[in-house]
Amino acid sequence: MLELYPHQATCIDELREGFRQGHKRQVLGLATGGGKTVVASHIAKVAVAKSKRVLFIVDRIELVSQAARTFHDMGLRVGTLQGEFTNYSAEDDIIVASIQTIASRSAPDWVQLIIIDECHILHTAHKKLMNDWNALPFIGLSATPLRKGLGKYFTNLVRGPSVRELTDKGFLVPVNAFAPGADHISAILADVSAGTTTHGFDYTESALGDAMNRKELVGDIIATWKAKAENRPTLCFAVNIAHSKAIAADFEAEGAKVAHIDAHTKRDERKRIIAGFRDGSIKILCSVNVLGIGFDVPDAACLILARPTLSESLHMQQMGRGIRTAPGKTDCIILDHAANTLKHGLPIHFQVPDLDDGKGDERGTRKAKEKPKFVACSECGAIMEPGQFTCPSCGIDRPRRASTVQTTDGELVAFGNRDADDRADKLNWYCAMRWHTQNHGKPETADSRAYHLFVAKFKVKPEWRWKDSPPVQPTHEQTRWIRGEQQRSRIAYLKSRAA
Ligand SMILES: [Zn+2]
Repeated sequence: MLELYPHQATCIDELREGFRQGHKRQVLGLATGGGKTVVASHIAKVAVAKSKRVLFIVDRIELVSQAARTFHDMGLRVGTLQGEFTNYSAEDDIIVASIQTIASRSAPDWVQLIIIDECHILHTAHKKLMNDWNALPFIGLSATPLRKGLGKYFTNLVRGPSVRELTDKGFLVPVNAFAPGADHISAILADVSAGTTTHGFDYTESALGDAMNRKELVGDIIATWKAKAENRPTLCFAVNIAHSKAIAADFEAEGAKVAHIDAHTKRDERKRIIAGFRDGSIKILCSVNVLGIGFDVPDAACLILARPTLSESLHMQQMGRGIRTAPGKTDCIILDHAANTLKHGLPIHFQVPDLDDGKGDERGTRKAKEKPKFVACSECGAIMEPGQFTCPSCGIDRPRRASTVQTTDGELVAFGNRDADDRADKLNWYCAMRWHTQNHGKPETADSRAYHLFVAKFKVKPEWRWKDSPPVQPTHEQTRWIRGEQQRSRIAYLKSRAA
């Protein structure tokens, strides 16, 4: 019999207890790294010992052979039920099928228990199957059983260990997350429309693609990766194919070993790319949804989140691709260029809520106010937890708004003796602006352009003798502000000409 960790044995005991109590349809909420294949294999073995047969249902035809291989590696005898490739016998421990193959059939008499993998997907075909095969017991597996209405199809939820618990015990690696420019991205996203999508309430994809596929945002992705990712094997999640290709092209222009892959990529080409990613000849793999939902791509040690989402489930599925352990891997770096971690948190903050009963609004049961508020460090972009005021990455203190400024007689005044810091900050900005203007545009106008940038930002003139201070290369954040301001003033100029 298979070796189980205590948390896996507990899950199986709780499922058994659920069946005993009369729940015929149960969800096992098991995080990435919780060992769902081991648990499913164990259930199949126990069933076989009682002369019962388990049918394991995957979401897409491509995943049948992948699941079958995994069970085979666990030491099971595996059959497959997949159109013309159907191949199973009475000797098999478990039979793998795709929902597409199975949905239109009546239940074969040898099936006594059904396991639905990634049950949060809950296609129409899944619903039909559960109605048609009403008499049989079902177990749904999911790391993120958040789907609206899941509670109408399953009556019991068994919670496995949380990501935090699995991380503490060494089953998963810890995460270092950075969200540089998160405020800028959040401002952009405020104008992007949202509605019901294939994975629940989320941004409208076409609008999102237009908003995110901009030269400066893509440029930030490349710059951040070069600064923080140490050439790690990296998965990049983009909004759509055009966006993914744009990111890949910019990486390539910078000399990085990168490939784009999508659902239309030919089978041989896909194999070649994935093999390249595995052996390190390709460092960065850019793609759209396919990486998030089970394509057989090895896990990465860096994730680039470039696809903003309102779906906590999608966010968690994507982050799940970076937190598994691997030889020599000690952590995962998350470069969040989508402001997703500010909305949904890091993997360790995720907790499986109760199954959704389908009532309530389409945004799901988890109200925004129930989620903790995360912020990104203004200096390095590291994600800080609520209540954390010193950056875990660079050690900078987060400003406590209430203590730096207070109102007297309707006026805003500095609180405490912050004048010295304030002056140093202005000087730093001035030197950064001079560096920028000296390195971009006509040199003869560099000083005057830096002067105007400074006045635009601080509403005061720079001090005269600051000209003697050497220019300093701007931080990403400063560059972003400077470019934004240049764009604003250019637009204002064009409007004034047009008027
Ligand atoms: Zn920091």
